[in-house]
Amino acid sequence: MINFQYLRASSPKSAIDGVRTDLSAQFIAGGTNLIDLMKRGITAPPKLVDINNLPLRDIADEGKTIRIGALALNSTVADHSLILKKLPLLAQALNAGASAQIRNMATVGGNMMQRTRCPYFYDPSLPCNKRAPGSGCGAVAGINRMHAIFGLEPVPDQHVCIAVHPSDMCVALAALDATVEVWGPGGNRTIPFTGFHRLPGSNPQKDNTLQHGELITALRLPDNALATHSHYLKIRDRASYAFALISVAAALDLKGKTIQQARLAMGGVAHKPWRLTEAEQVLIGKPATEATFREAAQVAMRGARAFEHNTYKLKLAPAAIVEALTRAAG
Ligand SMILES: Cc1cc2nc3c(=O)[nH]c(=O)nc-3n(C[C@H](O)[C@H](O)[C@H](O)COP(=O)(O)OP(=O)(O)OC[C@H]3O[C@@H](n4cnc5c(N)ncnc54)[C@H](O)[C@@H]3O)c2cc1C
Repeated sequence: MINFQYLRASSPKSAIDGVRTDLSAQFIAGGTNLIDLMKRGITAPPKLVDINNLPLRDIADEGKTIRIGALALNSTVADHSLILKKLPLLAQALNAGASAQIRNMATVGGNMMQRTRCPYFYDPSLPCNKRAPGSGCGAVAGINRMHAIFGLEPVPDQHVCIAVHPSDMCVALAALDATVEVWGPGGNRTIPFTGFHRLPGSNPQKDNTLQHGELITALRLPDNALATHSHYLKIRDRASYAFALISVAAALDLKGKTIQQARLAMGGVAHKPWRLTEAEQVLIGKPATEATFREAAQVAMRGARAFEHNTYKLKLAPAAIVEALTRAAG
């Protein structure tokens, strides 16, 4: 058994102070990911700072934005009347994730910070640059059915990590222009959601741009005209309890049949939730028809590359984009 220190923080400051002085210390919220990783020997923090007593659970309409506390439970957010009315895409994405029991424990902040489900990361006997930097990426020449098709290194033998980000919620947040509020030893700051997660580069062990000791306190989402026509499509091996092979968050602002604004992001395709801004531009000003959606999907797929076992994603991804947009348009 590996011993660790356990502290229960009573204020955001005491939580930050509890973590910042020890580079391996971690916050713990619902524990649904972190405890799994500890049990499997993938991480062994010497100190856990429990943040569950912090006042970070509120969900509030602040006029032009909706603010969601970092400790709001996935199930609370998904069932909240404000979210169902103004951000149904987020509610759908949350309900597509995990199981009811896990959603009742999992927090918004923990969901954003969850680690990849790449099997090479989860097995300490296998090489994985994300878990053990310098050991190699077992997935590149191994079983890579679940892996990335976007955000890859240009030269094939330079792939350091081809794992994908596992969250459903984060795909909707990337599409909906969320921002992340963070408190830390260096003060408070706001991070645009699409800049929160990162590509592996030469530092694949780092999933996001959060500094050590920084605490996510809330998310902010703009209240916009994209609620009526939105859809989260998740394609997976089983109907529940399975991570996305491909997912698409699609939202449209329609005037009659004409697209005024569009938001599009994908999950299961890259090391981070993958926003498709060029495809969004293709949609604007066009009629909401299958032909338009196909054109956007074609643009979205530019630059995609597959490995031995995930070539199916090159066909499944554009089909999923068309399907999600069709359902969003209603
Ligand atoms: C069987 C199973 C199936 C699942 N299926 C899905 C799925 O289909 N889709 C999906 O999206 N997810 C799925 N999940 C993942 C689940 O959504 C996450 O485990 C959960 O969201 C993590 O939240 P938590 O509060 O439990 O985080 P914890 O496990 O407590 O923490 C995870 C990480 O986040 C950090 N952290 C937590 N809160 C903060 C904060 N406020 N600021 C800074 N750092 C913080 C912790 O230090 C830790 O590193 C599944 C999980 C399981 C176990």
